Amino acid sequence: MQSNKKSSKISGFYKLPIEKRIELIKEFADLNDQDISDLKKPIDMGLSDRMIENVIGNFEMPIGIAMNFIINGKDKLIPMSTEESSVVAAASNAAKIARIHGGFKTSISNPIMIGQIQILGVSDVATAANKIIEQKKDILHVANAQDKILVDLGGGAKDIEVRILETSNEKMIVVHLLVDVRDAMGANAVNTMVEALAPIMEELTGGYIRLKILSNLADKRIAKATAIFDKEAMGGEKNVDAFLESYTLAKIDPYRAATHNKGIMNGIDSVIIATGNDFRAIEAGAHAYAAKDGQYTSLTTYHKDGQGNLVGEIALPVAVGIVGGAGSIHPKAKLCKKILGITSAKELSEVIASVGLAQNFAAVFALSTVGIQKGHMSLHAKNIAMMAGANEDEIDQVADQLIKEQNVKLDRAKEILASLR
Ligand code: NAD
Repeated sequence: MQSNKKSSKISGFYKLPIEKRIELIKEFADLNDQDISDLKKPIDMGLSDRMIENVIGNFEMPIGIAMNFIINGKDKLIPMSTEESSVVAAASNAAKIARIHGGFKTSISNPIMIGQIQILGVSDVATAANKIIEQKKDILHVANAQDKILVDLGGGAKDIEVRILETSNEKMIVVHLLVDVRDAMGANAVNTMVEALAPIMEELTGGYIRLKILSNLADKRIAKATAIFDKEAMGGEKNVDAFLESYTLAKIDPYRAATHNKGIMNGIDSVIIATGNDFRAIEAGAHAYAAKDGQYTSLTTYHKDGQGNLVGEIALPVAVGIVGGAGSIHPKAKLCKKILGITSAKELSEVIASVGLAQNFAAVFALSTVGIQKGHMSLHAKNIAMMAGANEDEIDQVADQLIKEQNVKLDRAKEILASLR
């Protein structure tokens, strides 16, 4: 059990050798020796072979820890798995500014997922739709018979919605089955239910079923997070104003909103991957939700409070689980959930919304002040040095020189490397 008193603000963490960092995380998250061994070793090929088809190897990605997060009053260290440099550092910096005013506060809706059943070939769609609504109780009963575990946990199919949609040459009925999936992501659970309902729907309507599948627009499973970003830590109110000017473009322009939201997903996907969740499902849900009012827009909103601080808020669908899927069998996913100290999908959603807001704040803050390249340069220079062929002993030397010359280019890296050898 993690203690509430441990601080996620560990100064100079990034300067420590990896072994020392692992030691500190072990202590913070009460990890045992087996956890550390799982962290360090590659996952078993046999396990991979059971996860997907035609396995020939594993693809490794780094796991970094974002520092400084306080979420609903609790300090959290956040494992993030990503290939992109600066993401972990940016999230940590944003969380450091947010913690001045108490960190992130969240609100999470019930874990309701939507399963869709598409009914075609119905002559009188209005009458058929009414029949479905009248039989709601029996429909829910059949759906719930598919997943006793979920029902025993207080979840299961809770309601239906019936929609009539029209193309230029036909009308169709689309039934939404609303399922409380508790601590699961819920796709398998929902798909099993909607498949089981197909024959009943055909019988009720006289039509035929084509699609029966989960919707990734999980707009009844919304995670919200809010935080106050201190104006002094941002370098004064002028930077708050500059931030708001930059944010406005994402609000009104899909070209900017796509990049703005990509920055949000830099953080969210990293946590989704680290916890073994389905990042495509989250991506699809987030972007569809961003267009819910007819125009694709920012998933975050910002304003200035009475003291001149920046207040940020994010809202997006978060279809994540802590049971089921790959997260239940992948040793590193299990370990990352242990580091997060979470015991429910709701708590994971709180983390994801907070990280999304932090990541977005960090990106827009950098863009509206010094620009994004400055923060990227240190690791980027190291990557360029490696691309130029630098070995372990040469990477830092080449990267330092590139930064000093403010010329982080591959051809220059090759010249520097040649001069060193
Ligand atoms: P799952 O079927 O592996 O696990 C969910 C099941 O676990 C529940 O149905 C329930 O019976 C049981 N369970 C035990 N304890 C539970 C608890 N505390 N809370 C909830 N359920 C509990 O997984 P899933 O979450 O139904 O499906 C997730 C997987 O489906 C992911 O791997 C995802 O990639 C995949 N998938 C996604 C899509 C999509 O997003 N469109 C489509 C198909 C499959």
